[in-house]
Amino acid sequence: MPESQVKTNFAFRDIAPYQEKDGEEYMNDKQRDHFRELLFAWKRELMEEVDRTVSHMKDEAANFPDPADRASQEEEFSLELRTRDRERKLIKKIDSTLELLESDDYGYCEACGVEIGVRRLEARPTATQCVDCKTIDEIKEKQTSL
Ligand SMILES: [Zn+2]
Repeated sequence: MPESQVKTNFAFRDIAPYQEKDGEEYMNDKQRDHFRELLFAWKRELMEEVDRTVSHMKDEAANFPDPADRASQEEEFSLELRTRDRERKLIKKIDSTLELLESDDYGYCEACGVEIGVRRLEARPTATQCVDCKTIDEIKEKQTSL
């Protein structure tokens, strides 16, 4: 792995979790700056991941004369394409979260309006629902998929 890519990964994890002070206002400028930084770093990492997949596939797109080799290569490519698709969706989600951050709606549950909480956002910066609403949503999803 080239050194520049390793550095990016470290830079992302270098962002220390936000330390709330007693009585600190929720989603004040400092908190918003922190999450903006986190989201941008995450997005950057994902975009590099996508680039890496593309160049890897170009490098490997040789024609294998052996059908068995070809099959395993195709399998590998389809796996990579699925990963890339997931990454693209995540990048979109990060973009819409960044918009939310600019419109002052970030950090509040879209379903019930309560504060999502710094700790939860730290673990899932793209969360748009509080734990309760998320849980209800997941139960509903399970029921409709039955
Ligand atoms: Zn909620």
